Amino acid sequence: MLNEEAVQSIVREVVAKLQLSDETETGKGIFTDMNEAIAAAKKAQAVLRRMSMDQREKIISAIRQKTLANAETLARMGVDETGMGNVGHKILKHRLVAEKTPGTEDIQTVAWSGDRGLTLVEMGPFGVIGAITPCTNPSETILCNSIGMIAGGNTVVFNPHPAAIRTSNFAVRLINEASIEAGGPENVACSLVKPTLQSSEVMMKHKDIPLIVATGGPGVVTAVLSSGRRGIGAGAGNPPALVDETADIRKAAEDIVNGCTFDNNLPCIAEKEVVAVDSIADELMHYMLTEQGCYLASKEEQERLIQTVLTPKGLNRKCVGRSAKVLLGMIGVDVPDSIRCIIFEGEKEHPLIATELMMPILGIVRAKDFDDAVEKAVWLEHGNRHSAHIHSKNVDNITKYAKAIDTAILVKNGPSYAAIGFGGEGFCTFTIASRTGEGLTSAATFTKRRRCVMSDSLCIR
Ligand code: NAD
Repeated sequence: MLNEEAVQSIVREVVAKLQLSDETETGKGIFTDMNEAIAAAKKAQAVLRRMSMDQREKIISAIRQKTLANAETLARMGVDETGMGNVGHKILKHRLVAEKTPGTEDIQTVAWSGDRGLTLVEMGPFGVIGAITPCTNPSETILCNSIGMIAGGNTVVFNPHPAAIRTSNFAVRLINEASIEAGGPENVACSLVKPTLQSSEVMMKHKDIPLIVATGGPGVVTAVLSSGRRGIGAGAGNPPALVDETADIRKAAEDIVNGCTFDNNLPCIAEKEVVAVDSIADELMHYMLTEQGCYLASKEEQERLIQTVLTPKGLNRKCVGRSAKVLLGMIGVDVPDSIRCIIFEGEKEHPLIATELMMPILGIVRAKDFDDAVEKAVWLEHGNRHSAHIHSKNVDNITKYAKAIDTAILVKNGPSYAAIGFGGEGFCTFTIASRTGEGLTSAATFTKRRRCVMSDSLCIR
């Protein structure tokens, strides 16, 4: 008879083997060589191109269903593999991708008709898109990109972040299973067993890749924009949440902490710091501490956090996407599970405030008045033009802030995730093209405009 421990050990061994084979296995869109992956995606695109919009929509609908059915598996896999984020929130993110990423309905034709005939602007596919994806939202980005890109009539080759390759490739396999089950071709989305910087270079230089979509930090966006190809760059942010004296302060505290702690602050749109007008700053912090599960870090604890989460080379990857409890544990502070965010007051130059941390650490910068708050928030956003948030009932103040900070996203009086359709109107995306200006990407972003002109006919007005 096997005892409990022996059974557990066998289970662990089998799971480890399964995971290994998962990581090294090819097929269902996974290749060992970038050139082969691009060739397969090109073949699949030729098939997709001949299919009707209705057939395309069937593939997308199957991807949505697979995403919903596997939301928990993908969420657990992402947290297990990367050590980052929160399973419950990742389940919600996958559901959001399945339910609110636009499909073919996003592709609208523009028409002019008159005495000289009929002219249409149709939105056609680029062909095979090269996509580079982050480790912070790995499968969310792959599934969301694929829905939009396939809706536009493209296929896609991914060079995912190596730290999230198992989760990313699991998503790629699901996409191909969905395509085949819906009557589409295999390899509508492709990836590599072992993506590297070299394989992404091959992708960026390949003659069959007319468009590259990069979602990640400043390095990858710069690399893509220097590639000589058309590039869509969804880069880093450092979103400030500004709170003025007209806001509902209690609600602002709740919204900000909810947004900041969502998936342990991994989303690029999440509140990374607060700028509060002096007259309400104490009240805001009071609600955060008494009602929103925040922990006030002392000067000495802030110093230990700086030593722990920042390294001379940048962020300590072991801290990114970790919970407040885990981060505090790393500096020797034990707190109850109810603590979900670390707060403190500091100058805007404080390293835990000025740096995009992607951790539930929220510095609060005090401003003497609204104009001073705007100036500080603009400085903190570092010209990324990515995301910013405001809590205010004064439309003049909101307008002034919106113009000054000039970001792709500006959420008013809500948590940051309202921007991607979670508790807010509008569609979902996990690729926000801040640097190149497309903003929140969707199927239409992944198409090229083509003018079709019928001269002197087909106007029936
Ligand atoms: P990262 O920049 O480390 O990696 C992103 C991807 O780029 C990975 O696939 C990585 O392998 C690749 N990469 C990095 N440098 C490269 C180079 N020089 N050439 C080619 N490929 C390169 O980012 P991450 O840690 O995975 O994700 C977090 C960062 O991404 C944050 O800065 C966050 O704000 C940003 N982000 C932005 C968006 C958006 O929509 N704008 C969405 C998610 C994440």
